[in-house]
Amino acid sequence: MKHKTFPLLSVAGALLAGCGLLQAADWYVAPAGSDAGAGSLEKPFATVQRAQQAANPGDTVQIRGGTYRMKNSDISKSKGPYASLTFLDKSGTKDKPITYRAYRDEKPVFDCTDVKPPGKRVSVFSVTGSWLRLVGLEVTGVQVTITDHTQSICFHNNGSNNIYERLLMHDTQAIGIYSVEGSNNLFLNCDAWNNWDSTSEGGRGGNSDGFGCHPPKGSTGNVFRGCRAWFNSDDGFDCINARESVTFENCWAFYNGFTPDMKKRADGNGFKAGGFGKTPASELPSTIPRHTVRNCVAVGNKAAGFYANHQPGGGDWLNNSAYRNSVNYNMLCRLIDEVTDVDGYGHKLVNNLSYGSRWDILKYDASKCQASGNSFTTGLKLTDKDFVSLDDKELLRPRKPNGDLPDMGFLRPAPRSAIVTQGIGAFGK
Ligand code: CA
Ligand code: CA
Repeated sequence: MKHKTFPLLSVAGALLAGCGLLQAADWYVAPAGSDAGAGSLEKPFATVQRAQQAANPGDTVQIRGGTYRMKNSDISKSKGPYASLTFLDKSGTKDKPITYRAYRDEKPVFDCTDVKPPGKRVSVFSVTGSWLRLVGLEVTGVQVTITDHTQSICFHNNGSNNIYERLLMHDTQAIGIYSVEGSNNLFLNCDAWNNWDSTSEGGRGGNSDGFGCHPPKGSTGNVFRGCRAWFNSDDGFDCINARESVTFENCWAFYNGFTPDMKKRADGNGFKAGGFGKTPASELPSTIPRHTVRNCVAVGNKAAGFYANHQPGGGDWLNNSAYRNSVNYNMLCRLIDEVTDVDGYGHKLVNNLSYGSRWDILKYDASKCQASGNSFTTGLKLTDKDFVSLDDKELLRPRKPNGDLPDMGFLRPAPRSAIVTQGIGAFGK
């Protein structure tokens, strides 16, 4: 059959495209741009905030590389305790999300060193919209100005169905990602490191987690995948106030609770998957959430690699690897009807690996947990020879081009090790 053309349809298509109805638009932002510009590649906007105004569902905001030196005058919204620099409250849709992404392989860096709103917590990207994607952005230098209890935040999620991907949050006084509202958010292949609040409460840094997820009742389906957290002054991953289940998978947490020169800071757990340690029984969630931590790695954290943190019920700990944490697995629970700590109950521990710590597992009531295939519950005797490498610097290898975690020999089982034949740990299969 000969090729046919449909002139009327072509004209209609061109018209629709011209109106932006057929094709999603790209908007551009650049450090030397102007918000009075057109938002085009040639005349980019200066701020993501201006780009949000222009963007419709389905559109992509292309953020050019370079340093965006943020100032107090960039604060878009000041509400409650927070001063938000970029406030993303416009939603996409299921079929047409709005994407805010690094342009090609460029590296946009949001340097917030100069943002010091008196008496306010800084929230760099405050997201209340849904069906949004944030990809490839870097945040650094975030300050804390308040000296009593407080926190600042790099990425603050209050929306649903958002994807936060390949974000870098480092050398700030803030929490990397802090999600406190909304369902079905995915935090994918993000890195948070060297975050320490050296200002508030005597500079202990007790709130500076790499990743925090504290959904209220009804906010379900939040997942962290492929994220790394290291040298954060508090915990790597923390869901202490989560009233719904949170999932952590393929995530790595190392040397949290320490500075890069190994000074001790605050809590220092790799995965703090639990909470309510001091909550009166009457204020506990009606259904205690059961968190899942699987295929995760915890190394050298100041306190526990994997910590149930007083949760009044068990969690699912599957195929994780812990090495040289003060305690590799701390399963501490509390009673549900009174604030009394007890050895962990209700946990499911399957195929977890523990090596190199004086304490494989503590605060654990084996008679009230389901455990199988763990190196420490089967009595498996491991030696250095069971591993291809024990060089933890490999944790910092560069990610793959698509953002996935790097391959490494570290903690990978040697070919004939029982770790492989028994399928133990994050790399045992
Ligand atoms: Ca803390
Ligand atoms: Ca914490």
